[in-house]
Amino acid sequence: MNTFIGQDLDRAAQFLKEGSLVAIPTETVYGLAANAFNVEAVAKIFEAKNRPSFDPLIVHTHSIEEVAKFTSHLPEKALKLAEKFWPGSLTILLPKNQLIPDLVTSGLNTVAVRVPNHPLTLELLKNLDFPLAAPSANPFGYISPTTALHVEAQLEGKVSYIIDGGYCRVGIESTIVEVNDDKTTIYRLGGISVETIKAEIGEIEEIRHSSSNPKASGMLKSHYAPTKPFILGDITTLVENHDIQKTGILAFQNQQENIPKEHQVILSESGDFAEAAQHLFAGMRYLDSLDVEVILTELLPEEGLGRAINDRLRRAAATKM
Ligand code: AMP
Ligand code: MG
Repeated sequence: MNTFIGQDLDRAAQFLKEGSLVAIPTETVYGLAANAFNVEAVAKIFEAKNRPSFDPLIVHTHSIEEVAKFTSHLPEKALKLAEKFWPGSLTILLPKNQLIPDLVTSGLNTVAVRVPNHPLTLELLKNLDFPLAAPSANPFGYISPTTALHVEAQLEGKVSYIIDGGYCRVGIESTIVEVNDDKTTIYRLGGISVETIKAEIGEIEEIRHSSSNPKASGMLKSHYAPTKPFILGDITTLVENHDIQKTGILAFQNQQENIPKEHQVILSESGDFAEAAQHLFAGMRYLDSLDVEVILTELLPEEGLGRAINDRLRRAAATKM
């Protein structure tokens, strides 16, 4: 299969109508999209990503009004969150109707829904009469893509078209939330912080522990991972036990004196979480591509987007199974 890259939305729409895969830019990470109502098209996503079919997909649409077409109920709190944060980096779990194939939700009766905040993808969605099922456009378990070139590097030949929408502004995946009238649960930390959601709707019962029986793939213990050993701890101490010429560093704010500069990625010199999130996955990919034997990294403060970034770092550092 040839893979084309560009900004031709008509061409992208044509591929999607034919049941082919198209990579779409969003503000979080790039998605690997198919017609969410077409089970054969959706099956191609799992095949291209090598993704286990127990791992459900997010359905992307362009407005709250559209959501009613493929869900059975929109709880009041969910509507409040949608009105506040869409288009944006919040995915809401809602009861699905029969238009959504079981493969999209791995047999769950809830469907994960989001209106992404990217002008090209919003325009594409408005020109389609179906929503797009899309997980992140990377092989299962590897680092999520934040540029069109990241997608091409890993999925060339497996996707018909990659819409080039530049780099992703948020840079980490969406926050996944379920809101019933009596209870709010977070299934994945992401681009909108827990504190921000709390400010909108009050108390939440938070879940962020890994699981081997995931309701969210972001809950798998080892995920978002580079291929090189990725070690989490106090970088200054860790550096003492490693060959400085063969060590990569992914640090929040500060350089290490003895390590070559080109082997170091600083997420945000000024300590800005949003900037750090933006640079996280590209930084991991860059370090993974170097001639180093190990990548050393550290946690950020456990607050705001720092928590979502730490979640990615912990999973990337978890031993691969
Ligand atoms: P990805 O975009 O690759 O991170 O994949 C989409 C994420 O949404 C995965 O972590 C899924 O497991 C999660 N997800 C999708 N649908 C549901 C659902 N109904 N319940 C819980 N998590 C879901
Ligand atoms: Mg993913």
